[in-house]
Amino acid sequence: MVTRTPLMAGNWKMNFDHLQSIAFVQKLAWTLKDGKHDFGAVEVAVFPPFTDLRSVQTLVDADKLKIAYGGQDLSPHESGAYTGDISGRFLSALGCRYVLVGHSERRTLHGETDEICRDKVAAAARSGLVPVLCVGETSEDLEAHGAAAVPVSQLRAALEGNDAVTELVIAYEPVWAIGSGEAATPEQAQTVCRALRETLAELRGDDMAGDTRLLYGGSVKASNVVGFMREPDIDGALIGGASLKIDEFSAIVRYRQ
Ligand code: PEP
Repeated sequence: MVTRTPLMAGNWKMNFDHLQSIAFVQKLAWTLKDGKHDFGAVEVAVFPPFTDLRSVQTLVDADKLKIAYGGQDLSPHESGAYTGDISGRFLSALGCRYVLVGHSERRTLHGETDEICRDKVAAAARSGLVPVLCVGETSEDLEAHGAAAVPVSQLRAALEGNDAVTELVIAYEPVWAIGSGEAATPEQAQTVCRALRETLAELRGDDMAGDTRLLYGGSVKASNVVGFMREPDIDGALIGGASLKIDEFSAIVRYRQ
């Protein structure tokens, strides 16, 4: 029997300054504690802007909160003349457990290729971070190749030559569903997540495939999360817009209640 702890992860994107992030994490902790959330049964993570991470770390450490956090991106390099970039080492030093890699906004707005994503996955692992690799098809890809082809090829590309990467999370996020209010159906998401898990089994063996959490992302809300979580290959969600609303995000985290 496979047991993968579900992960509910909020991607704040470029929202919340450090004061807003402190207020949000405090409210989240209170809401979940009041709601008797079982932190061992469903893991909660947030991905604040870089400038908020230190504040989130201070709160989490001071109150021993069981809320994980991570960066929204990292440099493929360790250090050096890369103005504006953030090293995985810096994220680790701030207590980050995770880092997003290859979010569709990075791929489209910042020209991040599969090769860059591969180097970032490697950099994350070198820094002791768990990469949350985002993969997903555009509506044009969907029409031309079906749903699974592009996400599967993005996964293959990210793992090529990356044998040192033994732990990752994969977020299947159809680009057409992100921020559109139009989520994939649970059945569509399950089909792609199944294909991703099979690909992982082919590349890395059944044990790693069985242990790896696959998230669905794209217009997830409190009202549709349960449908995704019923699917056997979906182990959580990556949530954008709804992760900025305390009631909505805490209801998503507590989807079992
Ligand atoms: C995202 O950007 O990762 C995302 C899933 O956004 P939204 O939930 O707003 O669609």
